[in-house]
Amino acid sequence: MTSARGERLGRVRSAMSDVGVDCLLLSLGADLPWLTGYTAMPLERLTMLVLPTDGQATLVVARLEAPRVEPDPATFSILPWDETQNPIEIVSRLVGARRHLAIGDRAWATFLLQLQAHLPGATWRNASSITGPLRAVKDAAEVEALAAASTAADRVAAALVAGDIGLINRTEASVSEEIGRRLVDEGHQRVNFAIVGSGPNSASPHHDAGARVIGAGEAVVCDFGGTMDGYCSDITRTVFTGEPPAEFLELYAVLERAQAAGVAAAGVGTTCEDVDRAAREIIAGAGYGPYFIHRTGHGIGLEEHEDPYIVGGNSRPLVSGNAFSVEPGIYLPGRFGARIEDIVVATDAGPRSLNTVDHALAVVG
Ligand code: ZN
Ligand code: ZN
Ligand code: ZN
Repeated sequence: MTSARGERLGRVRSAMSDVGVDCLLLSLGADLPWLTGYTAMPLERLTMLVLPTDGQATLVVARLEAPRVEPDPATFSILPWDETQNPIEIVSRLVGARRHLAIGDRAWATFLLQLQAHLPGATWRNASSITGPLRAVKDAAEVEALAAASTAADRVAAALVAGDIGLINRTEASVSEEIGRRLVDEGHQRVNFAIVGSGPNSASPHHDAGARVIGAGEAVVCDFGGTMDGYCSDITRTVFTGEPPAEFLELYAVLERAQAAGVAAAGVGTTCEDVDRAAREIIAGAGYGPYFIHRTGHGIGLEEHEDPYIVGGNSRPLVSGNAFSVEPGIYLPGRFGARIEDIVVATDAGPRSLNTVDHALAVVG
């Protein structure tokens, strides 16, 4: 029986052949754990999987890191290097005469530059052009891992919209900290971010939760996620502290419709740009077009942001197993903004939303 990783390796090799790449080099980033279960540390000591199309894959790793690697001899062998050795030379020797190379997008430039000096005449491309479309299609176990992470994040979002997380008279930073704590309490091993943007800060999509004290009568955008058993969660809910003005209610109603339209459009066969368009059209039709200043969504899996990107210009059709966010927002600078985000999986039975916390605008204290 071939393991999930063994199968992935096979698909990577065949995708490499399709584009004429004869050796793939993976270092930092999620491609490596996706294939080997091992996450490289961001160190000046090189970790690199050398994966030729026509030979055994080898993980070159500093000897002191090697005990962290779980051996999987059917998939790759482990080649530890000592402090007095030059890992670039070891990798170059394994690459041999191959010169059509792909390297992980997050490999450090210093390693790539040294490899280029050792491998003259090689052509280079991004590993993501090979691994991205493969990693974007989640198998059943990955979808369930994403669903479990989303459900855990949902419990935090449910507490937020129920008013169980006090907002008024607290700083954004303190609320952000509480959201992070709750993510961990709900089963995440790591908090990746917890954006809390209140009042005028709600109009800044990636606002850094700071010292601002949240007042009454304000929009508060909370966008948070973490990693649970390797897979990421990411959810946004916007709440209002007190009775929202008519203008905000109007904006929010448009946003709710846009987000629902984006999810409804996210079926197998629909292109990513058409999912974006479905949400964007509604926002533009209501006159808020210039205030929706980002793409509709991003893929999610081992990484917070990965293929497929739900953005104009991406004509790739969704396939069963694609997992991504649908997160339109409307931001009126200096005043207020709102965003609603759910993680959605394209399935043969239609779009499946992994987040299920109500979208109705919650008025909280
Ligand atoms: Zn974001
Ligand atoms: Zn988010
Ligand atoms: Zn997101």
